[in-house]
Amino acid sequence: MEVKERIEHLRSLIKYHSKRYYENDAPEISDFEYDKMFEELKALEAANPEYFDPASPTQRVGGAALDKFEKVTHEVRMGSLTDVFDFDELRTFIRRVKGEVGNNTEFSVEPKIDGLSVSLKYENGILAVGATRGNGNVGEDVTANIKTIRSIPLELTENINITVRGEVYMPHKSFEKLNKQKEANGETLWANPRNAAAGSLRCLDSKETAKRGLDIFVFNYQTGSLGEGLIETHKDTIDKISKLGFKTIPMLAVTSSEDEIVDAVKNLGSERQKLSYDIDGAVIKVNSLEKRKELGEGTSTPKWAVAYKYPPEQKKTKLLDIVVQVGRTGVLTPNAVLEPVKLAGTTVSKATLHNIDIIREKDIRIGDTVIVQKAGDIIPEVVGSVKEERKEELETYKMPDCCPSCGGELTYDDADSFVDDGEDFTLGALRCTNPSCPAQLARNIVHFASKKAMNIDGVGGKIVKMLLDNALISDPADIYYISKEQIASLDRMGEKSAANFIASVEASKKAGLGRLIYALGIRHIGEVASKDLASKFGSVDALYSATVEEITEINDFGEIMARSVVDFFKKDATRKIIHKLKAAGVVTEEIAKETTSEFDGLTFVLTGTLENMTRDEAGELIKARGGKVTSSVSKNTSYVVAGEAAGSKLTKAQALGVKIIDKSELLKMCGIE
Ligand code: NAD
Repeated sequence: MEVKERIEHLRSLIKYHSKRYYENDAPEISDFEYDKMFEELKALEAANPEYFDPASPTQRVGGAALDKFEKVTHEVRMGSLTDVFDFDELRTFIRRVKGEVGNNTEFSVEPKIDGLSVSLKYENGILAVGATRGNGNVGEDVTANIKTIRSIPLELTENINITVRGEVYMPHKSFEKLNKQKEANGETLWANPRNAAAGSLRCLDSKETAKRGLDIFVFNYQTGSLGEGLIETHKDTIDKISKLGFKTIPMLAVTSSEDEIVDAVKNLGSERQKLSYDIDGAVIKVNSLEKRKELGEGTSTPKWAVAYKYPPEQKKTKLLDIVVQVGRTGVLTPNAVLEPVKLAGTTVSKATLHNIDIIREKDIRIGDTVIVQKAGDIIPEVVGSVKEERKEELETYKMPDCCPSCGGELTYDDADSFVDDGEDFTLGALRCTNPSCPAQLARNIVHFASKKAMNIDGVGGKIVKMLLDNALISDPADIYYISKEQIASLDRMGEKSAANFIASVEASKKAGLGRLIYALGIRHIGEVASKDLASKFGSVDALYSATVEEITEINDFGEIMARSVVDFFKKDATRKIIHKLKAAGVVTEEIAKETTSEFDGLTFVLTGTLENMTRDEAGELIKARGGKVTSSVSKNTSYVVAGEAAGSKLTKAQALGVKIIDKSELLKMCGIE
């Protein structure tokens, strides 16, 4: 590949993975792999300045602020950090800094907490705004969620105006608890505490955030007054911030000795497994605030600090077998069965091999000596095989021809197959297409009944497991054929819960076409896309004959989404389920909603936690009456509906003189109370 092409390729790969990481909280590759690509791009750009591009990912910070939150412009830019990957690079940094601002320059060494960056603004000592980093200049207003984190003071010990920056993270304990609950409900697990923290802080419902056990370490003073006392160094600011009531970052060393800095970083590396939270490195910062100013800032990172990234720990072991697991979404994942080996504090006997392309690319064969590592994710991975230790000819691995769980047909996610070395080679995940596959069934049924889908109360992972174990259901449509007696006969299900269950099942028949389409769990089709399909086609019958061309006429529908819909409705298994749903009386046509126009021309902003009602539900009430719901308050806003722990939107509404109402006033306006 030409240098220019490689640069462009890396830029587009990095942009893709950044979006997955920062905006969707769902990375597909390890941080280590991401860092390697980023470093390669930086090196290529430095060696080939003619290809400089201000829009390159190397020139910017993080992701974008999501539209679902009000935007906050940071008073002080929230930058990133330059990474160093070995001690030579770290020593070079220290020497460069000393060369510029003096040999006696002190540095602090701190753990680099693996969470997400937030800024906390206090006015007269009271927490006013909590925001995410976003793209460094503009972040998301998550004040209501921030207020649920117990270690963040709502009021400081002094009556001052100050903005600080910290890292919100999820301790291991909270992470394990959260994933256990997710597992019990048949939901997809969070890959690691960092993603779980980011997802939890960016929930629309702060009650949900409150349950997640988030914590914070404050690591920087951004702007404002620090009150009385002499403040000359970073350490002074951290000591002062701590006195104001914040939980501050541990300072592992403050020294001008190069060797002591390196030792502190090494010690942290060897102790990191004992910490109750994840770190992904150490941060080495110039201590003097005056010297920081002298050194200045680069495009997206300061020149007075670096992040030392620890390499993932690796070990050699034997690959005993490869077993294929069918995930909840039908994806077949080959997993390595390993001779147990102690790695990063735990004994590892299983590791993911991701997919067949990776097995082939890394030439991993059963019987090989392999290298395993833990790199950011909880699941360890196989880095590669050690070919020199392959004593005999071993067979290349082949994926099964049909689903190991149900024998069903398999397809690859992205059909753009190409020929490689004379062999058919296909990129993407291998997936079982049978919607009744037992391995996927439980998850599909839980999704079908979930709140945003058919909204059937009480159909969680446990009850679905009982229903499957007792052979009462074999697909989602069977829910409509269960009797009250059958439910009542299940373990710990009395008459009353059976009656509630049946009533909820009955009510769900009128959930509407949009919810039904979403409930069916079509790949790439989320809640909004389902509603769009319902409005365009009006009935399931019309969707049977919908073409890719017709579907792509809908805004935001690409070819992959359209093809997914067409393929789904072509399947016999889909038709069978729809037939059963119709026979049970489930409405498969768009129900004309009675919309009135009493709120015509009125704009509402919803903020804070409303009692017994989500903001989505309140929004539906407003929209059904012809009103508009927006995310930010302006002088054109007609009403701000404020619940508990309402944050900066409420303050803004007060400042602009916008009318503020609570939930019960809204219900009265809607004619409900
Ligand atoms: P960064 O994580 O390398 O460093 C900056 C961040 O460190 C700051 O935002 C800050 O909040 C945090 N931090 C934690 N403790 C700190 C302390 N004591 N002092 C100062 N800052 C501290 O930079 P970034 O731009 O946030 O993210 C880049 C990293 O994200 C990469 O190294 C990569 O590993 C990861 N990433 C991974 C993927 C993926 O697909 N796996 C994609 C994008 C980014």
